[in-house]
Amino acid sequence: MTTLTFDSLNPATGEIVGSHPKQTPDAVHQVVGRAEEAAAWWAAIGPGERKRRLLDYKAVLTQNLKDLARLVHEETGKPVGDATLEIVLAITHLDWAARNADKVLRRRRVNTGMIGLNLAATLEYLPLGVVGVIGPWNYPVFTPMGSISYALAAGNAVVFKPSELTPGIGVRLAELFAEAVPEQPVFQTVTGLGETGAALAADPRVKKVAFTGSTATAKRVMAACAENLTPIVAECGGKDAFIVDADADLGKAADACLWGAMSNAGQTCVGVERVYVVDAVYESFMRELSDRVTKVKAGEDYGPITMPAQVDIIKRHIDDAAKSGKVVTGGPSAVRAPYVDPVIVEDVPEDSPAVREETFGPTITVRRTRDAHEALELANATAYGLGGTVFSRNTRRAMELARMMRSGMTAINSVISFAGVPALPFGGVGDSGFGRIHGADGLREFTRPKAISRQRFAMPGMNLTSFNRGPAELERLIRLVTFLHGRRKR
Ligand code: NDP
Repeated sequence: MTTLTFDSLNPATGEIVGSHPKQTPDAVHQVVGRAEEAAAWWAAIGPGERKRRLLDYKAVLTQNLKDLARLVHEETGKPVGDATLEIVLAITHLDWAARNADKVLRRRRVNTGMIGLNLAATLEYLPLGVVGVIGPWNYPVFTPMGSISYALAAGNAVVFKPSELTPGIGVRLAELFAEAVPEQPVFQTVTGLGETGAALAADPRVKKVAFTGSTATAKRVMAACAENLTPIVAECGGKDAFIVDADADLGKAADACLWGAMSNAGQTCVGVERVYVVDAVYESFMRELSDRVTKVKAGEDYGPITMPAQVDIIKRHIDDAAKSGKVVTGGPSAVRAPYVDPVIVEDVPEDSPAVREETFGPTITVRRTRDAHEALELANATAYGLGGTVFSRNTRRAMELARMMRSGMTAINSVISFAGVPALPFGGVGDSGFGRIHGADGLREFTRPKAISRQRFAMPGMNLTSFNRGPAELERLIRLVTFLHGRRKR
């Protein structure tokens, strides 16, 4: 029987970049079987050896950076410079995960409290086994590696299903891993369409699924995982807000806003989509924004829309926004597939698709607000809750706004800066998903906590977990608990 294949295309030229097998559910199950064996080996070699191998993998990735960046450029259309940047970020995360896994996950003693005085207690975080990673096409290295690096560092084997738009990169990432770890298939890639990802999620030997993509598909993946009670981490995009307060540096804010919104053609889950500017600086900020946006060019500063079907969604949002709001830059004519020129629209009603739905294009809506609190209220009035930005020179106030923003991450006086800090967890709330990648939380996400309590000596007169317990022991317990917990503070 011949295996069917599919092609990945360069979205800018339509040329075929590569041809890959559509792996059937059977093929996926075989891969997972091999991963199970590899997981046992990888767990057994221990944290020190894993660290050494992962740092080796990091070196291999770094040595292949230019070739990888070119492949990312070909499969996504993004400029080679942007592709390089995402790979460098992924390398930084891999380094952090490799170096910190043991410290974060290793066995430690925990306090047992007064009632457990006769016990010793330890907590450690053990690998799950096989982790399935289902990845997107917008950052085909940085995003899946945010799960893969942390899952591997935590001692798991990984089976990765890249997006059908970027299979070549997924295959290459696993090939390069095998240069650092040739003994066992600890990191494997399966290629195919949605069906291949569905087979991975449905395999009961996969102990956790890390998914990045749309909210709708996350629900389907979760439904498949529900059959086996397989937990998932879901990163499902957002509708991130950018707040400009009265004392912001407006030039820097405008610059950051444009890059956050337009770079990667706006195909960024934590990209800027809604801008709220306080009344006092509205006109000045808009002048800064309008001056700068004339210099941002589709096809030069950012690439084409990677997923052809996405162009229709972007067009629908722009058409609707142009009808109900006031176009500052771009408008319906900005859509000239596969490119979309920068679009800025003011005064778009808050209930319109351009403000409510993820656009994944180089577009923003801008709205004047009375003050920063109204801006925050509007920023938080979304079903999503992934990232966000606050620009203000007043650090205390900016921190206060950032903390009150209903999102997993907020950047102050910069955009998306949290994604480059490996120690910070990445993930959202609401329709943006749940669970965390990156940082110590990202390592623990791919483990199971193991708790052990050991009795060191029998507590005289306090044998509570026995049928021989008498009323005197209970009385002593009540006296102890009253002493420890029975006093009110006010
Ligand atoms: P999807 O959510 O459909 O796909 C994401 C990943 O899931 C891909 O690898 C896809 O494979 C896979 N997949 C699809 N169906 C299933 C299934 N039933 N079971 C398991 N895996 C499956 O996103 P799209 O790529 O279609 O993009 C649609 C929209 O999603 C975008 O326009 C954007 O709004 C949002 N998105 C958000 C991202 C983010 O960073 N949060 C990233 C990408 C998209 P395949 O590609 O083969 O279909």
